[in-house]
Amino acid sequence: MVDVRLSDVRKEYDGVTALEDVSIRVEDGEFFTLVGPSGCGKTTTLRAIAGFEEPTAGAIRFGDREMAGVPPEDRDVGIVFQNYALFPHMSVAENVGYGLRFRDPPGTRTRDERVAELLELVGLDGFEDRDPDELSGGQQQRVALARALAPGPDVLLLDEPMSALDARLRDDLRTQVARIQSDLGITTIYVTHDQEEALAISDRVAVMHDGRIEQVGRPEDVYRRPRSRFVAEFVGENNVFSGTTVAHETKGSRVTVDEHEFRISSSTTGHITFCIRPEALRPDADENIFSATVETVEFLGEAFRVHLDWEGRPVTLRVPEAPDDERIRVGFDPDDAHVIDGRAELVEQR
Ligand code: ATP
Repeated sequence: MVDVRLSDVRKEYDGVTALEDVSIRVEDGEFFTLVGPSGCGKTTTLRAIAGFEEPTAGAIRFGDREMAGVPPEDRDVGIVFQNYALFPHMSVAENVGYGLRFRDPPGTRTRDERVAELLELVGLDGFEDRDPDELSGGQQQRVALARALAPGPDVLLLDEPMSALDARLRDDLRTQVARIQSDLGITTIYVTHDQEEALAISDRVAVMHDGRIEQVGRPEDVYRRPRSRFVAEFVGENNVFSGTTVAHETKGSRVTVDEHEFRISSSTTGHITFCIRPEALRPDADENIFSATVETVEFLGEAFRVHLDWEGRPVTLRVPEAPDDERIRVGFDPDDAHVIDGRAELVEQR
């Protein structure tokens, strides 16, 4: 097993900068996810790690091994793509065994033993003789995973492996992938545009935007303490406000958003941007109360999402009960306002 380090990796395609100085370190055995909107550079990063693309500048290392010029087949990576990419004319066992064509099974196992071991790992023992078209999408992806893992790679790379599946299958497969990854302890880099999936499955996530890494951290840190407006709005839902600090207090600051004054726990100066999660805005809050008009109410199962209009600003609320009235009062705890912008952040970190 190895760690994977990218140092100032840059990738340009005739004038298009796909990656701009991407630096990340994926720890040995870690489940690390690259998440971001379409076109942000996730796949390019993964392809550079796999060896399908040479970076224009920068370095990629697996442990102490510098990867420049090393072709994909010599990198000891297992790869699973979005489309199952199984060989249709081969049985399940032959597909998994194909991963061992150029490489002996790890340890003293025979090829057949290794295939059986991998099919058991992905919960498909007994499916050896089936053809891929006799499997569900989720089962096909598990075969693809078994094939990628068969040679015992150092690093597992997964590029949107769930995106062609329906929601229920996606949930099942992501639980299985997380279990298998943690059983094997294999260094894993996962690409998805689905921030919910990224938060659910990863040890750490890197949020990408326009070819750059915006933030790297544990899911709960990125969710609770987004470092930029982009991360605040991309990872989960958020209400972002811009305001001005009007007074300092022993435990925080008073800020105004237009003519409304709020109290927040961070020490801030000047112009600031802060955000409040929809679940932190509450009708029964004691502080920072404002009135807004209910626009739409959506039932989500475990909660209601309420879209409010607060003097021309959209505000989203997540509450256990649907509001009865068209005008409602909501507020928030000063501790729940997270400051994301400018000098305020520097003050907060000191
Ligand atoms: P998606 O989720 O849509 O797959 P992504 O985050 O994986 O998006 P990339 O596929 O890495 O994004 O693309 C990053 C940028 O590089 C995009 O602007 C894309 O158009 C550009 N790009 C990718 N591959 C090439 C290529 N072969 N030639 C030119 N531009 C490319």
